[in-house]
Amino acid sequence: MLIVQKFGGSSVANTEKVMRVAGIIADTYCEGNDVVVVLSAQGDTTDELLEKAAAINPNPSKRELDVLLSTGEQISVALMGMALEKMGLPVVSLTGWQVQMSTNFDYGNARIRSVSTERIRQELDKRRIVVVTGFQGVNGTGDITTLGRGGSDTSAVAIAAALHADKCQIFTDVEGVFTADPRKVAGARKLDEITYDEMMELASLGAQVLHNRSVEMAKRYGVDLEVLSSYERKPGTKVKEVVKNVEQMKISGIAKDNNVARIAVVGVPDEPGIAFKLFRTLANSKINVDIILQSIDRNGTNDISFTVSESDYEKAMELVAERKDSIGFKDLYGDKNVAKVSIVGAGMLTSSGVAATMFEALSDAKINIQMISTSEIKVSVLIDKGNADKAVQVIHNKFFN
Ligand code: ASP
Ligand code: MG
Repeated sequence: MLIVQKFGGSSVANTEKVMRVAGIIADTYCEGNDVVVVLSAQGDTTDELLEKAAAINPNPSKRELDVLLSTGEQISVALMGMALEKMGLPVVSLTGWQVQMSTNFDYGNARIRSVSTERIRQELDKRRIVVVTGFQGVNGTGDITTLGRGGSDTSAVAIAAALHADKCQIFTDVEGVFTADPRKVAGARKLDEITYDEMMELASLGAQVLHNRSVEMAKRYGVDLEVLSSYERKPGTKVKEVVKNVEQMKISGIAKDNNVARIAVVGVPDEPGIAFKLFRTLANSKINVDIILQSIDRNGTNDISFTVSESDYEKAMELVAERKDSIGFKDLYGDKNVAKVSIVGAGMLTSSGVAATMFEALSDAKINIQMISTSEIKVSVLIDKGNADKAVQVIHNKFFN
């Protein structure tokens, strides 16, 4: 089999951990598999590099920043190469430009265009373990780019897709994907399987197990993906197109997002073009809007409320306030003291009452819902930030006990 194994930064944070991971790689190789390893930077290296950059120049060009940030992964692959050499195994480490991981020009958040398999294949044919830097690529002018924070997962999936690998294993410091954050929610349990679509929702809701672009890519190319622990040698969570127990499991996970703020534009005229003006203003400044709610008309006026990420809040308030006259609203209110709690589950496609069950849990706990939004496999509610942890717990109890 051809197996791609990716190890996150915390799994290779120090010498002892590098040696432990080398042991996993060695076992996979010695079982007769071809192994391509993708590594992140050790521990907090990337954050430390960002601090170093800021100390020299608070506003460096993104190109120079990528030259710096990509070094963390180069350290990891070199050290892993040495660890495997020490165990007497044939190994070669390669950077993003050596394997020709081609990306676009979007420094700091580059998208992969193609991955050349030539060099990797040559090395695998020599029965070498190939250790590749995650997170980095090379653009059309031969400059180093990085894929965005957490991007090594995407590097691993891209390499697995290009090589038509039999498996792509993402090793991390948790045992897999959980029904909720196991550090905070009592009774949270590991899922054996989850669908690509559910995982994409959870990843974009901030469940930090996988970079969301990696899941998108795994779905597109049908990559056999598994998230598993670097410490315990046991099965993790398989991410796939369809899972066996979708029918019984109404939901797969619950996520909380504290990085939200609510803005209410009150007393807008009830006429065509108002929503357009409002949201175009925000879109022009690249502010993403999530939940949108418009009330019914009362004597010719409406209220429109919506959420943005907390980091965009001040900017959004300012932009909307500036357009008070052209939009013609009466009042503007904002609230940063909110959180979004979401349930995700492909089971919603086939069973009814899932949203009602969630609302019942909140009602029992006397938690007020400010806004609701739904998609095919997700229900999100906006609630008071102070209630968010409790909400996740009571919803979890309701669905999983
Ligand atoms: N080292 C990079 C980061 O911290 C990439 C990764 O870990 O996936 O974001
Ligand atoms: Mg990571």
